[in-house]
Amino acid sequence: MKYLKNAASLNFIQEKCTNCLLCIDVCPHAVFSLQNKKVRVVDKDLCMECGACALNCKYGALTVNSGVGCALGVINGMITGGAPSCDCSDSSSVDCC
Ligand code: SF4
Ligand code: SF4
Repeated sequence: MKYLKNAASLNFIQEKCTNCLLCIDVCPHAVFSLQNKKVRVVDKDLCMECGACALNCKYGALTVNSGVGCALGVINGMITGGAPSCDCSDSSSVDCC
């Protein structure tokens, strides 16, 4: 599923990347892939800003503003006319996304 075009805050610094592949393993939306033995961002618009890649990257090659710009929540709010909510949390959870 794609979100808003060019809205994701994901930033990938190729020079810091050691191609350890951890981001490929943890990303739930297949934002990364291995091409010619190098990790690449294949489609930034697939990013849901969950923060898992940046949290797991030990080399500082990834940053993302997780939980502050849930594009799905914005879209849902536009469709329903209500407050932005992606419904990914329940009453026992404080954080969205
Ligand atoms: S986790 Fe970081 S260092 Fe490892 S492949 Fe991904 S961006 Fe590169
Ligand atoms: S923030 Fe989440 S969805 Fe976006 S690239 Fe990182 S792991 Fe994938």
